[in-house]
Amino acid sequence: MIKPTNELPIAILGGGIAGLTAALHLKNHSVPFVLFESSDAVAGLMKSERDEEGFTYDCGVHFLTNRLAAAIGMSRDCQPMARYGETVHLRGRCYAYPLGLLASPKYLSSALIGKSKSLFASTASTAREYYSSQYGSRLSEEIAIPLTEAWSGANGDEVAAAVGQKFSTGLGRMMMLRTAAKMTNRVIGIGYASTIVESTNSWHVYPQGGISSVCHRIAEKVEENVRLNCNVEQIDVENERVQSIIVNGKPLPVAGVISTAPVHVLPKLVRGTNALAGLEKFEYRAMIFVNLKLNGPSGLTDVVTWVPERDYPFFRLSDIGMGLPWLVPNGKSQVTCDIGCKVGDSHWNMNDSELTKLCIDSLERMIPGIGKRACGSRVVRVPLAYPIFKVEYESKRKSWEQTTGVDGLLSVGRNGEFAHLLMEDVFWRTRWKVSEFLKNSL
Ligand SMILES: Cc1cc2nc3c(=O)[nH]c(=O)nc-3n(C[C@H](O)[C@H](O)[C@H](O)COP(=O)(O)OP(=O)(O)OC[C@H]3O[C@@H](n4cnc5c(N)ncnc54)[C@H](O)[C@@H]3O)c2cc1C
Repeated sequence: MIKPTNELPIAILGGGIAGLTAALHLKNHSVPFVLFESSDAVAGLMKSERDEEGFTYDCGVHFLTNRLAAAIGMSRDCQPMARYGETVHLRGRCYAYPLGLLASPKYLSSALIGKSKSLFASTASTAREYYSSQYGSRLSEEIAIPLTEAWSGANGDEVAAAVGQKFSTGLGRMMMLRTAAKMTNRVIGIGYASTIVESTNSWHVYPQGGISSVCHRIAEKVEENVRLNCNVEQIDVENERVQSIIVNGKPLPVAGVISTAPVHVLPKLVRGTNALAGLEKFEYRAMIFVNLKLNGPSGLTDVVTWVPERDYPFFRLSDIGMGLPWLVPNGKSQVTCDIGCKVGDSHWNMNDSELTKLCIDSLERMIPGIGKRACGSRVVRVPLAYPIFKVEYESKRKSWEQTTGVDGLLSVGRNGEFAHLLMEDVFWRTRWKVSEFLKNSL
């Protein structure tokens, strides 16, 4: 049984799903806490909005699992996803993923050669080595590496092998889950969870009111202890133990801190220790999501289309209405174009109409005539979307996975753990990590 250690509260930094999950867990265990969110609303990366025409925009396409919906008491508010599939668009052809690629003799032989070589190869340390050993050089160089470079902005030799290992559902298990999906007519989650095992009982759903309603539902249960527009500016440490924080200029003694802030920011917040040195080098990739509104169907073959050719500005296209038809008005479709970028680079600095034109002109090469059906767009910019696992700080990243090195300081969530965590993983890992924190660190 977890008990509060003293009367001082635990400060939680951030009102995304990680901070809110931590808050609810502390409340359920009668541990005093205050959650500070720097912006004027909870949800963080799970922010979503609906426009007057009836199009819904998330920070990039988001859907959750029925397991997470059940865990937060939202099953009745969610609808199952209608369909899901991925294709790879390469040199004018579409290959269904993974079976269409494996039906191509050149990619099948690449995969078989790669697999047999991997039996004798040493452990991969870079993404290029990893993909080459898993898929062979052809699949790796034509598809996996260009996609990795597009989303990360780094060369395949600079990115650590761990990036390919994060959600590696084996082919056998993938086929089993796909067969179950066909038989049950459900979109079973594959490659979406690593904390609790993927299963035929876990399928994709979407909540009424947009993805942010997941956070709002948790926030309702802890709202008396949530403070919006409160930026945590400093975390003071003495003798390697958290003592107090500064929020909007005011000091507050605390029993501990649970942070969901990006890890490269933490060394600037934490004073009185060198334990976080090195984290300031960690990089995140920014993303621009250009949501194109179209009259009629998009012309894409599946919900997700991967685009590895480097002369396209985007690396992924999603037709969200194909999977979640109630997110777009009748007779319309919505294509989200994912552009990997750096804050301040030429894409980031383009205005919304330039980005829309860039995407439509590029899409014309794949789907001739699409421009004539375009009827508007909404551009969403996310400065910190993907943690980039670089070889140069891989050992520090691995030690960060274990501990912050400061008593009374826990870092959780996608940016806080510096990991490609999806909502379900964030939810379960945060609960588990907070329990361990209360037992061991306070
Ligand atoms: C493009 C994209 C697509 C995704 N698709 C899916 C999907 O389909 N399914 C899925 O399950 N997951 C998906 N995810 C992952 C999911 O969005 C994240 O796992 C989840 O939203 C992370 O929540 P978090 O609480 O860790 O962080 P965040 O949502 O980033 O919340 C952190 C909060 O902390 C606040 N904050 C930061 N610093 C301070 C400070 N100093 N003081 C006070 N407040 C502070 C911020 O304002 C923010 O609100 C996707 C992510 C991306 C980027």
